[in-house]
Parts: sequence; structure tokens; C-alpha cells
Amino acid sequence: MGGALPVSLEDIRAAAHRIADRIAETPMVPSASLGEIAGVPVWLKLEHHQTTGSFKLRGATNAVVSLSPAERARGVVAASTGNHGRALAYAAKAQGMVATICMSRLVPENKVLEIRRLGADVRIVGRSQDEAQGEVDRLVREEGLVMVPPFDHPAVVAGQGTLGLEIVNALPETATVLVPLSGGGLAAGVAAAIKGVNPKTKVIGLTMERGAAMKASLDAGRPVQVEEVSSLADSLGGGIGPDNQVTFAMCRALLDDVLLLTEAEIAAGMRHAYAREDEIVEGAGAVGIAALLAGKIRSASPVVAILSGRNVDMEQHRRVINGEGAAFAEDSP
Ligand SMILES: *Cc1c(COP(=O)(O)O)cnc(C)c1O
Repeated sequence: MGGALPVSLEDIRAAAHRIADRIAETPMVPSASLGEIAGVPVWLKLEHHQTTGSFKLRGATNAVVSLSPAERARGVVAASTGNHGRALAYAAKAQGMVATICMSRLVPENKVLEIRRLGADVRIVGRSQDEAQGEVDRLVREEGLVMVPPFDHPAVVAGQGTLGLEIVNALPETATVLVPLSGGGLAAGVAAAIKGVNPKTKVIGLTMERGAAMKASLDAGRPVQVEEVSSLADSLGGGIGPDNQVTFAMCRALLDDVLLLTEAEIAAGMRHAYAREDEIVEGAGAVGIAALLAGKIRSASPVVAILSGRNVDMEQHRRVINGEGAAFAEDSP
């Protein structure tokens, strides 16, 4: 691997130190039911129990705490499909600041309300992540706000990487880690942490078939745009940015594989989490379980699946649990 990637194990250790008393260390538990299905020991990293309901608080907190006093005074802004906005709103408020959050109209209403409740100034703009990002760029240019992006930023990636440190600390013999993948901040950080400690550990990115921007970009060898469509894994939507600086290079260097999941497989993952593990997870948080259930993971033992978030509309969750599949986006033909 070598070479200078934008975020190192040392950066991640520094982030862990910086955010230690501002985030929760989440539990990691063995799953007997998935172990039986997969034929190897399976552990679940219950990061959906993180404050604000997802790992995004790690990166947002590390970014906000790293700001200079002058930057703090200007305020922070981000575009978000929900969980980053929520995390940044919380992290900013914890530092006595107000975050401005721009999001597209595709973001579910429950997520918008939660972010407003956390004290953020929410602006709804356009029909895609890229259009929401255009408004962020304007606020940075015209009003001097400081952008904290959802994934493509060294401090954000280093913060997400602290989750990887918790995994290797809890289970040094981890052979394979299953990471939900969208813009790649989580996957880049976790892979840098885990491979920094044990280069033999495999890190596999998991995402939905519908609109898998990082997968398409890795295949093309450069950031490419994909059409944004709705998915049960709505937190995995959005592009990686045409001018990606951090996560594309890191995912290309560090990920061993990227696997795609259908809507039906993601729904099965959510059902299993609920029925067998007593866990409510959103679609994005269920992709690791989904891949194990679908028989897509062949590993030397043990496997760790990251359950990355729990922010799902409860009516949608109920429909998934009851197998009312018609309520969602159908799988592509
Ligand atoms: C943001 C998010 C992801 C994907 O993280 P990236 O850093 O964009 O790859 C996965 N799961 C949940 C719950 C998220 O909020």
C-alpha cells in the first residue's frame, strides 16, 4: 500500500483522543444466528446506538473540534442526506454554534424534523445531493460559512476511522469487516485504521445496486456521476463529488472489494436485525447483515458487520418488517 494517503493511522488515533469524551464507544456483540448462517463467527458493531443514531457524529465532532476560533465564529454548513446533518447540528450545538444544513427534497421528512429539533438552520434545495451542495458552495462564497462535508474531508474521515480502532481493539483477530459504503468516508477511515493495525484484515464495502456512485467510480478509475434514485438504503444515496479529494483515492487503495445489494436483500437484512437481533436499523445500516444472509461473504473467521445507523421512518420500518415490499422502490429488472 505505502504512499501517502490523505488520512493515516496516526491521524485517526489523534481523532480518537480528541473526540473520546464527546462520542459513545458502541458495543460489539457476537451474533449466533448469523454465525450459523455464515459458517464463521460473526460480530455486530452496534454503531446505530451512537448518539444521533449514526457514526456520522464521529467525523462531524472531529471536524468541529478541530476548527480555529476564527472559523468557529463564522459557523459551519453542510449538505446532507440526513445523518451527517443531524450529527453536525449536534456537534455544533455541543460547541455552542449553529450549523446550517442544506438538503435535497428526496430526504425523508423525519430526518428533516430531527435536524431542525437539534437546533440547525435547515434549507431544502433541489432534487439531488449535488444541487444541495450548490447552495452550500454559495453560502461559503457569499456568507463565509465553513463547510464540513459529509465524507470528503480529512478530519471527517479520521473521525469515522475511530470506529475501526474500536473494532480492532475489541477483536484483534478480525478477518473481514463489512462496511456500508456511499461517499466512502466511513469505509476509508475504517480501512485506514484497521489495515494500519493489521494489514491482512479484509475490508469490504457494501452498497445498494441502485445508484452506487463509489462502485461506478472505482470501476471507471475516476469519480463518475450516477443517477440518484430512491432506495431503502437512503443514507447510501448521492454522488462522491466530481472533484473528490480524499475518499476515492483511499477507497481505491484500501478496499478489498465492493459488493452490491438489491432492495429485497436490504429489506431481508432489516427484518433479520429486528426479528433475530432485536435491533432497529435503517436500510444503510443493514447491508452487512444483508450480504451475509445473501451468501455473498466468503471469509476466514471472524467477520464484523458494522450496523451504521438507526434513523429510519418507523412507518417505513414497519412495512419492511411486515414484508410489504410494494411500498418501496422495486428492484431494477
Ligand atoms: C452516511 C452513512 C453511510 C455511508 O457513509 P459514507 O461515509 O458516505 O460512505 C452508511 N450508513 C449510514 C447510516 C450513514 O448515515
